[in-house]
Amino acid sequence: ALQVCLPLNALGFVYREARDAWVNAERLFQLLREKPDIAEPPSMRRLQADKGEVVFDRVWFHYDPTRPVLCDVSFRIPPGKTVGVVGRSGSGKSTLARLLLRLYDPVQGRILIDGDDLGEVSPGSVREAIGVVPQDTALFNDTIGYNIGYGRIGCSRADVVAAAQAAHVHDLIDSLPAKYETEVGERGVKLSGGEKQRIAIARAILKSPPILIFDEATSALDSDSEHAIQQELERLSLNRTTLIIAHRLSTVVGAHTILVMDKGRIVERGSHRELLARNGMYARLWLLQQRMDETGAMQQ
Ligand code: ATP
Repeated sequence: ALQVCLPLNALGFVYREARDAWVNAERLFQLLREKPDIAEPPSMRRLQADKGEVVFDRVWFHYDPTRPVLCDVSFRIPPGKTVGVVGRSGSGKSTLARLLLRLYDPVQGRILIDGDDLGEVSPGSVREAIGVVPQDTALFNDTIGYNIGYGRIGCSRADVVAAAQAAHVHDLIDSLPAKYETEVGERGVKLSGGEKQRIAIARAILKSPPILIFDEATSALDSDSEHAIQQELERLSLNRTTLIIAHRLSTVVGAHTILVMDKGRIVERGSHRELLARNGMYARLWLLQQRMDETGAMQQ
């Protein structure tokens, strides 16, 4: 069952909504950060994540007891390394990320960051250690500067600009009518999926957490944006423990380890080369994707 600590219970209505969408989750984290008195139960230890080692130790999970979602999942991401997760839609990939963020607790098994069981440390401290680049970055109805800057409370405009430059989104912002003061969101300037994802990358750069979760967009970006985001991601994940939830296998070719999920289980694991040599599910998916890419290229 879901273990919700007291302050989160007080925010129960937000919390329940938050579990279902990354953006709502992000909004909740912001809320928690703004109200540190209720966010951090004094009795709970804070996570001290400095190296950023992530361990899933025989984790079982379901949303609904009749449908298991994760079955006996174990893996380790050594500090600074990248693990990519691939598999069919519904195989449980995003659920791994939700558990790592402690939006849910495992039904059985443990998740550890630098040896600390997430069940024993305050949720706020877990989220402080993790940067998230969600697949659909919905922005706050506020200025673009605010949207980047909330990655780190109290940062200066110069910090925001530096992060935007690193995420290759500064030139775009500079061309907008009121630059960093431009309103975005529902009533403001509309940005493309790729641009929003770059803003999320800028946020993560500013936050500079030891651990990063990148949830790749399912909807295809144009190939230029995709290439640029891939490069920015590679830079951001350098020396940072990274979990990539991938929909395109090309995104995880360079990962130290790739996990192939099927029906909530890890069915294969290894580097891209090792998995191709195995000639199993990954190799089949890889061939399929290559053929689809070729057909796509011919149709263009
Ligand atoms: P995709 O590639 O489509 O994003 P995924 O591999 O990330 O899929 P998950 O989002 O982890 O899959 O979902 C795993 C299973 O859990 C699916 O069967 C899904 O329907 C179910 N599920 C996901 N979120 C919830 C929820 N909030 N409540 C109930 N069931 C859920």
